[in-house]
Amino acid sequence: MKTAVFSARRYDKLMLAQANQEAGHELLFFEERLTRQSAALAQGCTAVCVFVNDTVDADVLALLAGQGTRLVATRSTGYNQIDLAAAEKHGIAVVRVADYSPYSVAEFAVGLLLAVNRKIARASMRTREGNFELDGLMGFDLHGKTVGIIGTGKIGTIFARIMAGFGCTVLGNDLHPNPAFEALGGRYVPVAELIAASDVVSLHCPLTDATRHIVNAASLAQAKRGSILVNTSRGGLVDTEAAIAALKTGQLGGLAIDVYEQEASLFFQDLSSSIICDDIIQRLVSFPNVIVTGHQAFFTSEAIGQIMQTTIASITAFERGQPLANQVLSRAG
Ligand code: NAD
Repeated sequence: MKTAVFSARRYDKLMLAQANQEAGHELLFFEERLTRQSAALAQGCTAVCVFVNDTVDADVLALLAGQGTRLVATRSTGYNQIDLAAAEKHGIAVVRVADYSPYSVAEFAVGLLLAVNRKIARASMRTREGNFELDGLMGFDLHGKTVGIIGTGKIGTIFARIMAGFGCTVLGNDLHPNPAFEALGGRYVPVAELIAASDVVSLHCPLTDATRHIVNAASLAQAKRGSILVNTSRGGLVDTEAAIAALKTGQLGGLAIDVYEQEASLFFQDLSSSIICDDIIQRLVSFPNVIVTGHQAFFTSEAIGQIMQTTIASITAFERGQPLANQVLSRAG
């Protein structure tokens, strides 16, 4: 099936082409993000394959539908960038990758937490300069601390298991309690109680209307002073300006983020020779107790392999008129 692949980086081309060897779909790779301007590149493509920062809103879907697109396949778990109701209106099916190594993201979240708490990146930068001073690098033991997890699905529960292994008390908040989370000693509490009681809060819920800015000025004011916030889920879960204000006063003791609300114009590209006009991200990276990575938590060979195979399998199933195991339906649908 003729498929336009947007936001295609070198590894996307390599791994998707590898996964496509048997299926033999005609893949057209575009480095551009999908936007209203670039949608014309998908002219005549029955399928369009996107990633987290592509724009798949009602206007883009109308353009795609007019050009013959019938399937949108996102190479991600989250699908908040896609207007599902508009897709349904235009008769475009939407598939995602519901299952791929959740260890990739959970392990990365642990890495971010250790890096920000124990100042590992700062220490490494110092030693490269011949500075072996420890002043300013003190962290705290995770053992015996309380870790609050918002969203105890696949990734959140693995993160909880690792934190329990560190000897932490684990609190959770979720619309749907997960027995696997409770089995490892996790206890569910309301979100306000979780934020107030936790030394570390880690976000693992999807971005929805209900979770947008779930961490905001009011909740940060209720947080334990000096606590650490980890976000590997979606940037929109955190009101970044409120987080900056809390970092300035020390109310927030550390921030480790792999995702950022305005990441679409920054992430997945080399801007090291450009003037970055986003003052919020520039302020964030200036804090010694903040770590920002560019949406790489999923980036392991296992996860990428599974993402590409599932994506190709979905395109094949669609072509053959078979049921779509990874279809996402609009709430109305
Ligand atoms: P999942 O569906 O297994 O778990 C999500 C959990 O969040 C579910 O248990 C759900 O009930 C819960 N939830 C939904 N709304 C909630 C709310 N209002 N309050 C509290 N909990 C709520 O998904 P997953 O595979 O664990 O992925 C979690 C998120 O991680 C994804 O939605 C995605 O945004 C993010 N993610 C990020 C990366 C990355 O590279 N940084 C990669 C994959 C996924």
